[in-house]
Amino acid sequence: SLWRYLQEKFQESLSKVSYDTWIDSAVPVRLTDTNIIIEVPSSLHKDYWQNNLMSRIVEGIYEFSGKELTPIFMIKNEEMPDIAKPTVKRNNSNNNRLFKDAQLNSKYTFDTFVIGKGNQMAHAAALVVAEEPGTIYNPLFFYGGVGLGKTHLMHAIGHQMLQLRPTAKVKYVSSETFANDFINSIQNRTQEQFRNEYRSVDLLMVDDIQFFADKEGTQEEFFHTFNALYDERKQIVLTSDRLPNEIPKLQERLISRFAWGLSVDITPPDLETRIAILRKKANSERLEIPDDTLSYIAGQIDSNIRELEGALVRVQAYSAIQGTDITTSLAADALKSIMPSEKPKALSIYAIQQAVGKYYHVTVEELKGKKRTKGIVVPRQIAMYLSRVMTDNSLPKIGSEFGGKDHTTVIHAHDKIALSLKKDPVLQREIETIQNSLKK
Ligand code: ADP
Ligand code: MG
Repeated sequence: SLWRYLQEKFQESLSKVSYDTWIDSAVPVRLTDTNIIIEVPSSLHKDYWQNNLMSRIVEGIYEFSGKELTPIFMIKNEEMPDIAKPTVKRNNSNNNRLFKDAQLNSKYTFDTFVIGKGNQMAHAAALVVAEEPGTIYNPLFFYGGVGLGKTHLMHAIGHQMLQLRPTAKVKYVSSETFANDFINSIQNRTQEQFRNEYRSVDLLMVDDIQFFADKEGTQEEFFHTFNALYDERKQIVLTSDRLPNEIPKLQERLISRFAWGLSVDITPPDLETRIAILRKKANSERLEIPDDTLSYIAGQIDSNIRELEGALVRVQAYSAIQGTDITTSLAADALKSIMPSEKPKALSIYAIQQAVGKYYHVTVEELKGKKRTKGIVVPRQIAMYLSRVMTDNSLPKIGSEFGGKDHTTVIHAHDKIALSLKKDPVLQREIETIQNSLKK
């Protein structure tokens, strides 16, 4: 097909990571007599296609079909879980000395970065900058909460740039390192050297610049470093936990300079992305973890990727100590003490009624009512039982939440279910499922 042909053409001319980012994410949606309509994930992708790939695609279409079609790029509007692209098998063992000089962590590459909804733009921008430093997005500014991959992306830019241009001078520093280097250079009278060092690079990355707040002298120096690099069209990449104008005491002139380029935020990963990150991590460590266990862990830790990784390490350690395979219940045990549900926001009886009702397909009204059909009585007793064991509510309070029943009814329900649980594995599983749904 035409698209297949174009894909192959791009495969030949683009790097693998570039191909995965731009071409793989694009979907041809319609072919007319004059146009080919292509759906892409974001405005950034659209720009990239229009600025960089346009002539190649028009050419390719002509080669294949003899037609002159004009591509139209549409941004896909529903949110797309563009998770875990099959990743680039690039050889990163390229342990040349520059990598070390650049202070890059060899694990933080594009290959190991999982793309999801919250970081797709950032990832795409990072790639552009790595491949065409100093031309399009300068400076590139990532902002977002802790543990969401800002540092990882920066390092990936550095690796990728060195991959493409092994002699490039790449420098990654935390904002504290920059500040310390600067202060030391004053104390040691080596300012000349400091400036040579920082102003001779092709790519300067300064991480977590929110720590420039309050550092007047450092900001001053950074301003000049920035200008020197910018004037030479050298690439600058910065990160912060918030937008520049929200950083206290950041000089206005820095704020305005940072706005010259592109600012992209990184937001917390959705569940699918978290699962994909765990799966990738597990694969790379050759851990055998069932899918439902990965989902379970991803469901427990929902904001911070560093914590997500920490959870996996913990589960792994737990299974090693116990000498057993990793299962969902093992993961639950391993994570018990770090899970926020250890300090639960008091679970309400209503929430229990809803969960039980949903599970057994009865309404909350029926659970609270007086009907004595079996299909309702058992769920009602289960809901009472769970209200007893999962909340701190008193018996009379529970009774009253079930349509004003007597507390002895609650005791009876509790004892009955507790007894059945001992010998009925089906019931055990059902209740466990309901309890898990309530822990979310
Ligand atoms: P930040 O700098 O935003 O605080 P980091 O870049 O240090 O976050 O990321 C925290 C951890 O999560 C790192 O180990 C990093 O490799 C991992 N991580 C973050 N985002 C991703 C991702 N999209 N795919 C894979 N790993 C990720
Ligand atoms: Mg960081």
